[in-house]
Amino acid sequence: MTDNPFLTPSELPYGLPDFAAIREEHFRPAFDQGVAEHLAEVAAIVADPEPPTFENTIAALERSGRTLNRVETVLHTLAGSDATEAVQELERELSPKATRHRDAIYLDRGLWDRIKRVTTSDPEEATLLERYRLDFVKAGADLDEAGQERMRELNAELAELGTEFSRNLVQASTESALVTEDVADLDGLDEAQIQAIESDGKYVLPLLNTTVQPALAQLTDRATRERLYTLSVERAPRNREIAVRVAAIRSEQARLRGYPDHASFKVADQTAKTVEAVEERLGRLVGPARRNVESEAAALAEHAGHDIEPWDWPYYAEQVRKARYDLDESELRPYFELGRVIEDGVLYAATRLYGITFTERSDLRGYHEDVRVWEVFDGDGTALGLFLLDPYARPTKRGGAWMHNLVEQSFLLDEKPVVVNNLNITKPVSGPTLLTFDEVETAFHEFGHALHGLLSSVRYPRVEGTSVPRDFVEFPSQVNEMWATWPEILANYAKHHETGEPVPTELLDRLAAAEKFNQGFGTFEYLAAALLDWSWHRLAPGTVVEDPEAFETEALERVGALHPLVRPRYRTSYFMHVFSNDYSAGYYSYVWSEVLDADSVEWFNENGGLTRENGDRFRRYVLSVGGSVDPMRATAEFLGREPRLEPLLRRRGLA
Ligand SMILES: [Zn+2]
Repeated sequence: MTDNPFLTPSELPYGLPDFAAIREEHFRPAFDQGVAEHLAEVAAIVADPEPPTFENTIAALERSGRTLNRVETVLHTLAGSDATEAVQELERELSPKATRHRDAIYLDRGLWDRIKRVTTSDPEEATLLERYRLDFVKAGADLDEAGQERMRELNAELAELGTEFSRNLVQASTESALVTEDVADLDGLDEAQIQAIESDGKYVLPLLNTTVQPALAQLTDRATRERLYTLSVERAPRNREIAVRVAAIRSEQARLRGYPDHASFKVADQTAKTVEAVEERLGRLVGPARRNVESEAAALAEHAGHDIEPWDWPYYAEQVRKARYDLDESELRPYFELGRVIEDGVLYAATRLYGITFTERSDLRGYHEDVRVWEVFDGDGTALGLFLLDPYARPTKRGGAWMHNLVEQSFLLDEKPVVVNNLNITKPVSGPTLLTFDEVETAFHEFGHALHGLLSSVRYPRVEGTSVPRDFVEFPSQVNEMWATWPEILANYAKHHETGEPVPTELLDRLAAAEKFNQGFGTFEYLAAALLDWSWHRLAPGTVVEDPEAFETEALERVGALHPLVRPRYRTSYFMHVFSNDYSAGYYSYVWSEVLDADSVEWFNENGGLTRENGDRFRRYVLSVGGSVDPMRATAEFLGREPRLEPLLRRRGLA
């Protein structure tokens, strides 16, 4: 036990976990010890003979559970990014235990009684105290014995179902992969893509997480497209039953907590606040988006010379894009080399806006040899934290792109942030990694979350950086996407990987025009997914869903989001966000945040764009405060007025 690296704070810079020293046999004993330590700390808080104060109760809770936090952080990092079978087994075993442990704390009557008696006049303390009270009420602290017991049972079941749902999806990406021995089926893919998926004379094209697979835009063979699309929308059928059960559990929990359904419970502490507010906004967008889909579909059919099917849409959209804007994605890729995009694009933009600088620390290692580590410094040279980038897809990584913290910033624990960005870019067998423009935007997006974590400047870990309402958290990351196409930033990173030539301006003009194309499709597939998530979580307690596929169809139909050519971005069986992660009744958040994003982008444009002054203002009001103040008030202060919906409508062609 003495050489278990989880049991003492890491001695590496910024508390970066010592991945080289961590072995699989360290997790279980450290987890058990972490739980025991945390329970002892909480018991000591409850037993304190002094009357409850902010310091001896809330601040003491913020300081507690450090060992457990270290183990869980590393376990979840590996489970998401490099999940070997041993790691999956560990997660399966420890996640229900972690759930029981959290329940033991949130349902501790002595602790809840103390928290209710804490008072404070300090505004930051008051925000945190309110946060704690909500956490406890939501967990069921006010329930009677029987209610709490039921809550525990349901939480345990949910944790297991979430893990199973996610494991089924990881398996489905290869089990439902498109497999062929005939390379002619793959006509349209480029040489490097074909090389990357060839093994033993077979070609295996794994599924990415969304309904539309990127290869659909390239594959010339219609039958192959149909096969790939069908594999995608029918993957992980076992997850449908899991989704039914998860939704039923959530609605029962909502009833226990005194809410009519799970969605009402979830939005109560979001910036949206009520289900009506969410439904009003989604409802206002879906009709115009549908009209855009219709006119786009007509253009695609006209170009194809025949009616199109859902698997044809990305292909003909690409054809029309080429014809109208003369833009071929493969023309652009040579200008988007990964290293340049990151260092001369993403990081450079942050330097220009916030004055922060980055020094690569090749002496520090992440959990995988492909992870790069940078030390981040403020304009005056003060060390700010570490940034880790894990760019590549691998069979042991889940789909999509995300940010998370390995260490959270807080003055209380005297800790600086260690932040990770995960992308899913295919690693070439040899040669440079060239990105699509989508992947470039994703890199900027995720780094917007990273900035939220890195520039956090708060006292308490519970409200650091990205610990804000779910329907607010995408706002800073979406704003950061604007710098990907900002002329001075583009000129700095978009250079040909062989010749160093800057990307031709006319190619960029065509890109900008083409970006507006096919927006009806993008908006509609997103809204359909948001409404599908919403329907599963508006179910009244006791509602029995017999046929999840029929439920999906009816739910979409009812709100005008069922379209024969455009399926939701995620269907029920692979809607990881809402059935495994905690985005339930929260997928609407992206468009909710985008209202603030579109408005802020206009603000930057009207106020001189890429300047240190503007960066500092965004940092002061939005990025540095995390969840320590009311985020909507902070945004209104940044804008100098209340946010408006119109910029979003204009941007998405819905005005
Ligand atoms: Zn995001």
